[in-house]
Amino acid sequence: MKIAKNILETIGNTPMVQLNHITKDIPATVLAKVEYFNPGHSCKDRMALKMVEDAEADGRLVPGGTIIEGTSGNTGMGLALAAVVKGYKLICVITDKQSKEKMDILRAVGAKVVVCPTDVEPTDPRSYYSVSKRLAEETPNGWYVNQYDNPSNAQANYEQTGPEIWEQTEGKITHFIVGVGTGGTISGVGKYLKEKNPNIKIWGVDTYGSVFKKYKETGIFDENEVYSYVTEGIGEDILPENVNFDVIDGFTKVTDKDAAVYCRKLALEEGLFVGMSSGSAIKGLLQLKDELGPDDIVVVLFHDSGSRYIGKIFNDDWMREKGYITNEVSTAVDLIQN
Ligand code: PMP
Repeated sequence: MKIAKNILETIGNTPMVQLNHITKDIPATVLAKVEYFNPGHSCKDRMALKMVEDAEADGRLVPGGTIIEGTSGNTGMGLALAAVVKGYKLICVITDKQSKEKMDILRAVGAKVVVCPTDVEPTDPRSYYSVSKRLAEETPNGWYVNQYDNPSNAQANYEQTGPEIWEQTEGKITHFIVGVGTGGTISGVGKYLKEKNPNIKIWGVDTYGSVFKKYKETGIFDENEVYSYVTEGIGEDILPENVNFDVIDGFTKVTDKDAAVYCRKLALEEGLFVGMSSGSAIKGLLQLKDELGPDDIVVVLFHDSGSRYIGKIFNDDWMREKGYITNEVSTAVDLIQN
């Protein structure tokens, strides 16, 4: 019988889908690696399981222990699946910027959710970085995952996502583009692809309000780049150890409005019901289209599902409140007219 012994065995081997409409101004072939086909509906299932397995292997996580992580939701979902199947407790520390759906979903799979303010310094004791660390110290058999600096994060993408992309494109990929948060996806996939073919270009998508692009271009960590923004999952106010700038050829920044509008366009023009950072990724690619030619094969990775943004991006009242649209949206043409 072809059965998975548990839900964790269904992680990975996600499909790659050609984009045909939203990319009409791009001279290259554009393929989307659609990560919402993972059981927790995001790419982060891969690294969550790998981080848990590596921590079990070297004793950082002991039987019956508590997994503690600061997570915007997707990593938490992946950790929750691992925790349920393997019998651990899970505490997710999350910022108040995150969608209510994400918090409810985490609670539905057994996680305890602790909410922290977004607009405080990372070193502030109220920040979700500080609260996660404190809880890990105070909780007996607590293990602080720290996806930002945990090397198993990039390693999972080096071992799985990278080889899948290489095989699905039969080694013909010329460019890879993806939103960058902890950096695990771009660094793991980028390292694997560059080892296979150093000519493959690796592009990161950043947000306004984040430090990555400026740091890559100048080597300067500029605090003036940091301010709050709406896009979830990408951009940082710190430099995570998982961002390997050596395998990244460059960054482009996408506005919150463009991310939201292009996320809606992906649903309406391609039938891809993806999350906001996927809107950032496809808009980032459009911003770089002049660097592409007809023989190029670009892979863009879509991290998660639109279902986590029903109350936000896929809610016209919310979109209007933010000033991202002025009219009702039911077709892609409505989005263009806004
Ligand atoms: N998009 C979404 C929706 C995410 O949850 C994440 C993870 N923070 C990313 C993009 C960025 O991925 P990574 O952390 O691997 O850079």
